[in-house]
Parts: sequence; structure tokens; C-alpha cells
Amino acid sequence: MPKKILVIEDEKDIRELLRLYFKREGYDVHIAKDGETGLRKASQERFDLVLLDLMLPQLDGLEICRNLRSRPQTADLPIIMITAKADEADRIVGLEMGADDYITKPFSPREVLARVKAIFRRLERPRAKEIKREYGGIALDTSRHEITYRGKSHSLTSKEFKLLDYFLSNQGRVLSRDILLNEIWGYGYFGTTRTVDVHVAHLRHKFQVLNKSLVSIKGLGYKLQEEPVKT
Ligand code: CA
Repeated sequence: MPKKILVIEDEKDIRELLRLYFKREGYDVHIAKDGETGLRKASQERFDLVLLDLMLPQLDGLEICRNLRSRPQTADLPIIMITAKADEADRIVGLEMGADDYITKPFSPREVLARVKAIFRRLERPRAKEIKREYGGIALDTSRHEITYRGKSHSLTSKEFKLLDYFLSNQGRVLSRDILLNEIWGYGYFGTTRTVDVHVAHLRHKFQVLNKSLVSIKGLGYKLQEEPVKT
């Protein structure tokens, strides 16, 4: 399905330039010659993006932008504002107007296309998988790389974080030092299994609950108990 774009622009030359260029690039381009028509189209049909001229007779781009943002069905509709006033740029993408990006006149259609593509790329990029783990007062958020313990935020090194995350996701399993080295430090790591012990000691020191819950299994490695042991 080609992306559906709405161009709201009162200047015929610019409107036609955009229409032809985007059509040639494979987009489904719709046009509106004035603000009212544009707003009506944008609220009645579903578009993937709007190219919106700021200076329009009667209903201007700013009002259209605000209006679209205020409706649930178009609140997230990407809007690129086209403006002849370079000094307006900051306000356009700021909170005040709520556009996603802006282009200043005069522009080349290629430049507009690049902006449009950038917005679509941004939208299509999958969000980092958000995983939250909790264990005996530890709350770990892997997407934000944040950790709290008993409600207080803590900072960990990236290896400590990965190690803790690995223990939390493998509760009840005995994990050998070799497995941990490979999983956390990678196969190319030349350190010794002592590295694991040092990091485990750090974790136990930082999170009291791990003193009894993260147990050493003699000759094998470590195991995080499925039920946190009260300390
Ligand atoms: Ca205009």
C-alpha cells in the first residue's frame, strides 16, 4: 500500500510541484487548496502524513495543526509544516504548534521527500522491547536500563546489569561460571571465572536480598532461588 499524503497549500505552483514529485515517487497524493478543505479531508480520511502550508487564507496552518492535534484520530498524524518564515521554525516544531518537522520556502521537492522519509523511518523503527522484572524488592527495566531496589534507584555497570538480568530471567536454574562468562562477557572474553565471582559479590553487596537468595552451588556455579529468601 502506497503511503497516503495530504498536501494543503494555496499556492498552485508549489502544490503541483509536490503533487507530481510525490506521485512519481510512488505516493498516493491528495491535495487541498485551502485550509477548510484540508482540515475536512484530514479529519474524514486516514492519511499517513500531511504537508501543511503555514500561510493559508482564512484558516491557517497553525489552526489546522492545533485542530488535528486535538482530535484523537489525528492526534498522532505526522505533520510537516511548510513556511516562508525561517524565524518561525522554532515555534513550529515546538509545543506551540505541534508539527513534527518543517520545511522553509524555497525548497527542493527532494528535500521534502527526505524529510517525509525520515518521519516514516522514525515511525517504523521497532521500539526497544520493554521488559520489567521484579524480584524481592528489585525492579529492573531493561529498555530504560534502570533499576530500583526497595523503591530507591541504583546504578550498575553494564555487566552487573546484564548479569542481574540474566539471573532474574533464569530463576531456579543452576548457572555455571562458564555459562555466565559466555552469556555476559561473550565467547571472545579472555577473563577468568573469578570475574563472575567478583561481579556476584558486587550484586550481593548492593542488593541485600541476594545475600541469601543468590546461592553458590559448590563446584557448579550460582542459582537464584525462585522465591526470594527474606533477609
Ligand atoms: Ca501559502
